[in-house]
Amino acid sequence: MSERIWIKNPLAIYTGTDMDAGAGIVVEGDTVAELVPAGGEPSRPVDRTVDAGEHVLIPGLINTHHHFYQTLTRAFPPALNKKLFPWLQTLYPVWAGLKPAHIEVSTELALTEMMLSGCTCASDHHYVFPETAPNCIDIQAEVAKRLGMRVMLTRGSMSLGQDQGGLPPQSVVQSEETIMSESERLISQWHDASEGSMCRIVLAPCSPFSVTAELMKASADLARERNVLLHTHLAETQDENDFCKQFVGQRPLDYMESLGWLDSNVWYAHGIHFTDEEIRRMGKAGVGVAHCPSSNMILASGICRTKELDAAGVSVGLAVDGSASNDCSNMIQEVRMALLIGRLRYEADEITHYDALRWGTAGGASVFNRDDIGTLAPGKQADLGMFKLDELRFSGAGDPLAALVVIGHDRADKVMIKGQWKVEDGMPVGTDLADLMQRHTRAAQELIAPHR
Ligand code: ZN
Repeated sequence: MSERIWIKNPLAIYTGTDMDAGAGIVVEGDTVAELVPAGGEPSRPVDRTVDAGEHVLIPGLINTHHHFYQTLTRAFPPALNKKLFPWLQTLYPVWAGLKPAHIEVSTELALTEMMLSGCTCASDHHYVFPETAPNCIDIQAEVAKRLGMRVMLTRGSMSLGQDQGGLPPQSVVQSEETIMSESERLISQWHDASEGSMCRIVLAPCSPFSVTAELMKASADLARERNVLLHTHLAETQDENDFCKQFVGQRPLDYMESLGWLDSNVWYAHGIHFTDEEIRRMGKAGVGVAHCPSSNMILASGICRTKELDAAGVSVGLAVDGSASNDCSNMIQEVRMALLIGRLRYEADEITHYDALRWGTAGGASVFNRDDIGTLAPGKQADLGMFKLDELRFSGAGDPLAALVVIGHDRADKVMIKGQWKVEDGMPVGTDLADLMQRHTRAAQELIAPHR
């Protein structure tokens, strides 16, 4: 029999459902067993009680887009204050030097950083495979398994180098044969489609301006054949829309639709510059969007049309995006940023803290076509974040759940993934943070040394 844990009487709780869970939740094994209504008791005896009287309890946050390796090039001086394309062109030669040890330590750091921010399921979009590091996804899968983090690893790819009119240098592009055979291999080796899965593989050509139409199409065909999801960057900046029109003679969404990429197994990163008509088509097709507020602000990309996407039935999740464009991987901060950037586009009463929390939890699950995570309800995976409001800035806060978002938190006190405590007392369980930072800093210095 699995242990039954009652996370009791939280200061506030957001379950993502309309069920009463005022007295907390009971976790049994790796799933949520029951919600306990205010003033109530669990239906059966529990083995252990965790007092949540000082905590705001929410479903684990879901990060729908990231580039773990970019934690090695955060606040990199030559790339600061640049627009998307020159920013990418500055960083490609640095990333071309990635070695397996860089992938390993950056994955460990990014996953740990996210866990500490209340994140329990993370997607990564890895698309740089220099000859020195061909097995990046395998390394990521192994690190995630070791840490006990739930991941959606997207096998990125770039096949159009500068010689073919693409953006990246030749040293970071791969042949399409290699990309497809590696995609097949990774699905066979790592993809777990079962309920409660800890690792799924997704096919993810980097963007319309770094792969050919043939590769986009072949990826979509393989994804359908193997029943895996598809992911790419789309409509991030106006420059990208213009480049796409010039390059392939179509707007990005029309181009993607012509290649079999307007479907319910697809989610796009950013998804900012769409027309009303395009948003309607996306909703009808059931695609998802990874909304990356901080990255969009740092690169001045624009503001995602979250309300229109919601209304059209497009799944909206939140994402930190790469740490080179966001400079951190903090999901609870991203929830706040989603609220704030939303208020810039819409009226103050049109976007609430509930919307931001929903995008960060159930929205992300929907982007991943998963119904086993994203809410706290009986039968769902026991993925949750608990935040204490014990810092100066929270003093006097009237509504603890709203305070989490509008005042803004940055670190969870406790995090559970699949029924296991991964963060306790604000520290990652089983990880020596000082040692991790030291190893990561050394790796970052080594990677950027030739480019100073
Ligand atoms: Zn990205």
